[in-house]
This record gives sequence, C-alpha cells and structure tokens, in this order.
Amino acid sequence: MRYVSTRGQAPAVGFVDAVLAGLAPDGGLYVPETWPQLSAEEIAAFTGRPYHEVAATIISLFAGDEISAEDIAEMCAEAYGTFTHAAVVPLTQITPGAFIAELFHGPSLAFKDVAMQLLARLYDHVLGAQRRTQTILCATSGDTGGAAVEAFRGRSNVRVVALFPEGRISEVQRRFMTTAAEKNVACVAVQGTFDDCQTIVKQAFQDQSLRQAVDLSGVNSINFARIAAQIVYYFTSAVAVGAPERPVSFCVPSGNFGDAFAGYVAMRMGLPIRRIVAATNANDILARTFQDGRYVRGAVNFTQSPAMDIQSASNFERLYFECVRRDGVETARAFQAFVETGGFDVPPQAFASMQQVFTGVSVSEAETTRTMIATLNETGELIDPHTAVAVAALHKTAEVNEPFVVLSTAHPAKFPEAVRAATGVTPALPPGSANLADRPERFDRLPADADTIKAYVREFALA
Ligand SMILES: *Cc1c(COP(=O)(O)O)cnc(C)c1O
Repeated sequence: MRYVSTRGQAPAVGFVDAVLAGLAPDGGLYVPETWPQLSAEEIAAFTGRPYHEVAATIISLFAGDEISAEDIAEMCAEAYGTFTHAAVVPLTQITPGAFIAELFHGPSLAFKDVAMQLLARLYDHVLGAQRRTQTILCATSGDTGGAAVEAFRGRSNVRVVALFPEGRISEVQRRFMTTAAEKNVACVAVQGTFDDCQTIVKQAFQDQSLRQAVDLSGVNSINFARIAAQIVYYFTSAVAVGAPERPVSFCVPSGNFGDAFAGYVAMRMGLPIRRIVAATNANDILARTFQDGRYVRGAVNFTQSPAMDIQSASNFERLYFECVRRDGVETARAFQAFVETGGFDVPPQAFASMQQVFTGVSVSEAETTRTMIATLNETGELIDPHTAVAVAALHKTAEVNEPFVVLSTAHPAKFPEAVRAATGVTPALPPGSANLADRPERFDRLPADADTIKAYVREFALA
C-alpha cells in the first residue's frame, strides 16, 4: 500500500514512512493510493469477533506488506488489552433506534486512546527495527497529551514532551499527563493559550537543526495511523446493529474531523453507512461548511466541550481531496487560500458529493446542558459534554435514518465540573483511575516562548 499527499507534489511513500513523517513534505496529508475493499461477506464475518481481531484485519489492509500480519495482530491484542471493558468499544441503547458507542474505556478515558495505544506499539516496532529513538512533541488542549503520555510512557525508543496551556485544561486532564513517573515523559505548562502551544510546536518542526538533533515526530490526528485505528469501531458498531444487511448512520462529535473522516473511509471500504452527522459546538466551521459549501474560519469560542474548540479542521483536507476527485493542485490551492484569506468556496460538484454523506449540525451550550440532563433522566446514563453535543445533534437532525450510532468520545468523569453543573451528579472515576488525585504530579512551567521551549526539548532529549 502506497501513500500519496493531498497536495500532489510529494513522492508516494510506504505505510511506515507515512506514519513517522506525519505531514507530507509538500504540506499535504497522506492518504492511501486506493481504498482497500471489504465484501459484504467479509464485513458480516466481523460479527461477534473480538475487537482486536477486527482491528488487526483492518489495520493490516493499510500496513500492506511492510509489517507482518502476525506483528499487527500482536500489537492490536496488546493495545486493546489495556481497555477496561471486554468489548473494548461497547454499545449502549438510548432510544429505540439509537445507540451510544463508548470509546472511552482506555487508560486516559478519552477516545484518543483507541488510536494512541496502537500508535505507540507501531512506533516501538518500527523504531526498534531501525535502532532509532524519536522525540514526540505534542501540543494538547487536554486529551491528546494524556493519551500520548499513557501510551508512550516507559517506552525505550520514544521520548514525549507534552505542552499544555497552563490553567486551561481540567484537573483530571492535567493529572493524566503529569502523574506519569517515567523518565521518557516531560510535561510543560506553557504560560499561554493552546494556540501558543501549537504555534511553538510548528516552529520546532521548522527548526531543521533541532529536528535532526532530537529526531522529532508528531502524533496529532494528521497522522494516518490514527485514522486507520479509528475506522475499526465503525465496523464493529455497525455489525452490532445490523450491518451489512441494514445500513447504519453515525453521529460524531467533531473538532479536527479525524474521527468523522474515519467513518467516511469505512464507507468507502464497503461498510453501508447512510449518513454521518458531524456534530460541533459553537465552533461550527464544519457544520457551516456542510450547510453552505463555504469553508471559512470563525473566531474560537470557549465551551464545555473544549476538545472541539477548533476553527480549522485539519482532516477536512482529506475529504476535500476525495471530493475534488483527488486533484492535488486544486486541494493545495484551496488550503493555501484558507491560510492566506481565512476561507474558500467548495466547488459545486465536490459540495454535492459531501452532502450525499455528511450533515453538519452545530449545538449551543444550552442545548448541550439540556441534553446531559435529559439523557440522565430518560436513560439513567451520564454523558460527557462532547457526547451530549452529538446526542443533541441527532435530535436536531430532521431525517433520522435508523439505526443510528452516536460516538461517545470521553468518559463523564473526565469533565466532572461540566457534568455536575448540568446534572447535579458528580461522575465517579473508574477504579483504575480512582487514585489519580493522590498521585504526585511532575511538570515544568515555561513562558510561551519558542526558543525557551526548543532549548528545553533539546536538553530533555539529549540528557
Ligand atoms: C479529540 C476529541 C474530539 C474531536 O475529535 P476529532 O477527531 O478531532 O474531530 C471529540 N471529543 C473528545 C472528547 C476529544 O478528545
């Protein structure tokens, strides 16, 4: 399997290079040259199979011949063995036709674990074979950092530096990063915003001397391996509610659009998906785009669902590339215009293909709160604010095609303040994380200054 860039100017590479590189050298995102296909019989055969086996089958299609099927199977068994639910991604029914897929039973209680646990094992495998040690630098608005620290802690071929905006993430989110005692993990509270952290990471990646000295790598959702891992639960959830005989629709809390795009890939691979609702909070760039065909940045609003406080959805570039029939020149033009002018119009034919699959729905803070209360009253389930955005979006979608699966991206105990404020109930941490508040924390505080942080990364990596 070869990977091409959405901007058409970079040479095709294999799976391993696409994963370790993250971004393509022409600034585009890697996608497979063709989408692997699964027949209805192959999809039906996933029914009742253990999650890690379905994962191994699907990931192998994307790894091609670069990693053996046995190695992938072992990595998947290990990665999903860290989840505390035997089904890994269990379904809960909330109304006669609607189900919630719980993606939060991993070590850091957020759906980022599903991909990050596998990614850590992929890195270990590939870097071990190449006798290479990389430094992963990540900026986090909360969940990515915790998932990365949980996944990479104690691994000999990787060091992790997680930058988070001081005071802007929940205490539970912070503690998932800062209580790791392993020496290959460093956490930095940056005296600035998440945007500052992200800008500093970009500057570090542009510094060739630092990049080479510490062998810098990135694990944000532009990394195709994360998308590949997220395709799996679309298949397991869909077969659980009647696919491939019955088509299934999904409703996805969306920010960077990696999760919803994984659903689109599952559809292109042959899974009968009727509709994907991209649910956003007040940061509605995706919802607007699927409504009016214009991809235009707005101002960032701070909401109860902070993991989706994003006004530029990186993975939208992958969908755009597909919908302009893989025209790399056109994709480069559009996303360059987005950087320079803040937006562009989606061509009519491409917009029509997007609308065949996607519906965009934006949900207000009041609707999010009301949905947490109503879901608790009607089903007894406590849901987190990100999941509530998706449940509310489902209720607001006029044409509801059953069955519907809502992706639940965080455990309610990861956002206890918001859940308590809405419902009056304080969600309890699951047993494995219950002593989180008692574990000692370890992190450094630095100003939002690129040179200071680059010097810190160099010193930590070369120590
Ligand atoms: C990252 C995240 C999202 C958004 O997922 P994208 O793939 O960026 O669209 C939604 N909910 C939670 C809890 C998250 O951590």
